[in-house]
Amino acid sequence: MYWNEKIETISRDELNYIQNERLGKMIRTIYHNVPFYRNKFQEIGLKPDDIKGIDDLSKLPFTTKNDLRDNYPYGLFASPLSQIIRLHASSGTTGKPTVVGYTREDINTWSELCARALVAAGADNTSVVQISYGYGLFTGGFGLHYGAEHLGASVIPISSGNTARQEMLMKDFHTTVLACTPSYAIYLADSLKENGVSLDELHLKSGIFGAEPWSENMRREIETKLNISAHDIYGLSEIMGPGVAIECSCKSGMHIWEDHFIPEIIDPVTLETLPIGSLGELVFTTITKEGLPLLRYRTRDLTVLHDDVCECGRTHIRMERIKGRSDDMLIIRGVNVFPSQIESVLLDIGDVEPHYQLIVTREGNMDNLEIQVEVTENLFSDKISNLAALESKIKNKISSVLQINSKITLVEPKSIPRSEGKAKRVIDKRNI
Ligand SMILES: [Zn+2]
Repeated sequence: MYWNEKIETISRDELNYIQNERLGKMIRTIYHNVPFYRNKFQEIGLKPDDIKGIDDLSKLPFTTKNDLRDNYPYGLFASPLSQIIRLHASSGTTGKPTVVGYTREDINTWSELCARALVAAGADNTSVVQISYGYGLFTGGFGLHYGAEHLGASVIPISSGNTARQEMLMKDFHTTVLACTPSYAIYLADSLKENGVSLDELHLKSGIFGAEPWSENMRREIETKLNISAHDIYGLSEIMGPGVAIECSCKSGMHIWEDHFIPEIIDPVTLETLPIGSLGELVFTTITKEGLPLLRYRTRDLTVLHDDVCECGRTHIRMERIKGRSDDMLIIRGVNVFPSQIESVLLDIGDVEPHYQLIVTREGNMDNLEIQVEVTENLFSDKISNLAALESKIKNKISSVLQINSKITLVEPKSIPRSEGKAKRVIDKRNI
């Protein structure tokens, strides 16, 4: 099932033709309307006509989050405010947020791409879509909201939080599609169980989960606990918001809508473009955006692209689930560590809940990694010797995957703080 079969299954040649056309047009607009980019072009002696198509992408300068901050609030907009109908901003941990602006056409594109995403995840116009992502300055729930309306589904814009009400509406309104963070999906599933709500009382069929890294094991966990098909979604507000890429029923990566965004993978240190199939930092060039078009925007997200044909029939390139952040990556004793790798190991082992926290400390010049893991109720009431065996099993597995030793602390069920938004997995106590 497709929302827009013609474009979703377009041939590679036709897709490249569209990309070349759109890229050329966008470069000319940016050059004329955005002084920041015009200056960058002039600094490196590049003229709009030098970019003939996607093969010339690597000649273009990169854009970073700092560039957005330095041009706060509207410096990178390519359309006048009279044409901007929406502003969103992402919270910066320090200083000013980054601001994104949408024209009416940008919102239309967002609706179209999110409708494609919903259909790829199994929704149709009879679906009831419960959007439990936050609505606000952050793009959160908006994209799927528009997509669901565009598709003709019924939207419940409940936003995040208030789990008791989420459960009541899910049951009473016959929600079929749940959209929220994966950690909240597990939280909801556990809470439903605790409150004695059986899966038969619900009408859930699929879920669209994103906004934080999650693992294949966590997918199995969610699919079992909620009896649904769980789909990964990807997006970032700088590029559009949620819906830049979505997993189809094949679940072998997320299709990136290449008629609007051109992805590349680069080495985050050398900035060289890497071949398809390599792990590196994801970079996007938007080719249809009017409000805030961006050239080679560095997402800091690490992933791998695949361009082989997907069994679903969609021809758009696929990205693997996010492996971590190029700048949030923990370096422990010189080793690159991604929390998602640890999560994957823990869930493979079983007997532990997908709730864990990494605590990094430093004594002298030595980094220490402690992994606190919740065990299941059953195991917790079990013999101490079994717990000790589990502890050493986890320790050995982690050490073989990460190549570093860690201290494993098994903790009681429900002792790690739950989150209704992004889960806080890392506590780095090193002053570096
Ligand atoms: Zn597919």
